[in-house]
Amino acid sequence: MFNRLVINIRTLTPLWTGGLDGTMDRIHETGIIGSLRWWYEAIVRGLGGSACDASEHTCSFDMKKYRESKAADECQRLRDAGLCDVCQVFGATGWRRRFRVSIIEDRTRLAWEPRDKALNIRPPERARGWYLLPGYVGTLTMIFEGEEKIISLLASLFLWLEKFGTLGARPQLGYGAFRILNRGEVLRSVRKWQWNVLRSTNPDRDGKDKAMEHPDLRRFLFFRYEFVPSRPGWWTMVPGIGRVGSRVQLLVFQLGMVPTTPALKNEWRFNQWQGNQHDELEIFGTLRPERRRGRISATWAYRKDKKNGVWFIHGWAWMPKEEKLAEHLWKILTNAHIWNKVLGVEGKLTTFPSQRWEEHGYNTVRRFLQEGLDD
Ligand SMILES: [Zn+2]
Repeated sequence: MFNRLVINIRTLTPLWTGGLDGTMDRIHETGIIGSLRWWYEAIVRGLGGSACDASEHTCSFDMKKYRESKAADECQRLRDAGLCDVCQVFGATGWRRRFRVSIIEDRTRLAWEPRDKALNIRPPERARGWYLLPGYVGTLTMIFEGEEKIISLLASLFLWLEKFGTLGARPQLGYGAFRILNRGEVLRSVRKWQWNVLRSTNPDRDGKDKAMEHPDLRRFLFFRYEFVPSRPGWWTMVPGIGRVGSRVQLLVFQLGMVPTTPALKNEWRFNQWQGNQHDELEIFGTLRPERRRGRISATWAYRKDKKNGVWFIHGWAWMPKEEKLAEHLWKILTNAHIWNKVLGVEGKLTTFPSQRWEEHGYNTVRRFLQEGLDD
């Protein structure tokens, strides 16, 4: 028996799902699924479940082992058959993904034209700056189909991502913030199961060391910054924006979004971070010699509602292994004065967890996930 979940979203910052030549030609379902999987992995690890390293494709389904498993619990049988908790849902060799997704209504367009024209945000003192390609903006309706439990899980995930995460690729550049337009309907799909579908493989083992190697919610800092600017043109003073002001102006008036991510990253990386280059690359990423993703993602500034004047930025950081670095990064990101200075506004910064994350175990992660379901 298949259940359906209809999710109707509006983009708050451009959605990026990739394409063949490095630009976007349309919204690709694979880019959406890829990001759901990435988050699901971090969540499963954060709750003590099993998650393989997706880049290594270690899971594969073995029918013989499945039949031989003595476990009463279906999840455990699937684990015995060679599937981690993530692959059980998202698929692996010999095991199909447990849900189907299709985009049934796509009222999106490129944030600007043409699709290979980058917006170059170059804060003072930077030689190159950041190049932002147009992602897609507008409203989008997706349909997910699968068993009730899986549908409940996806609904929980979307509700949580709306508040704390992003959808699609390039979150480091601020893409992928969205709003669910049919929230009540999505909530109804999670009533029965919520996050309880997910159980720890081994709740006794807190495996902090494992949390270091792969994204794990226990090592994430989430932040939300909100502000009501006192001047309508606040964004013209954000470092790097003035040079491309007329193009950004269109984004502000038509879409209620401002690409503030480069200015914040520039400040954090080049003005606040005082450390050796090795550590800097570890935190902020690099393109050379090989591409390494930065650990910090912050959305562009966006307005959820054109009628009120509140702007938001949200995002997260995956904390590095070394405590000294993590502590340093924590201090920088949780300092509201830095945010205020860069954006030239007076805002309110909230972080999750509000205290240091060392104390955070599976239960706090579970509570945090539950917040996604609250109004
Ligand atoms: Zn797996």
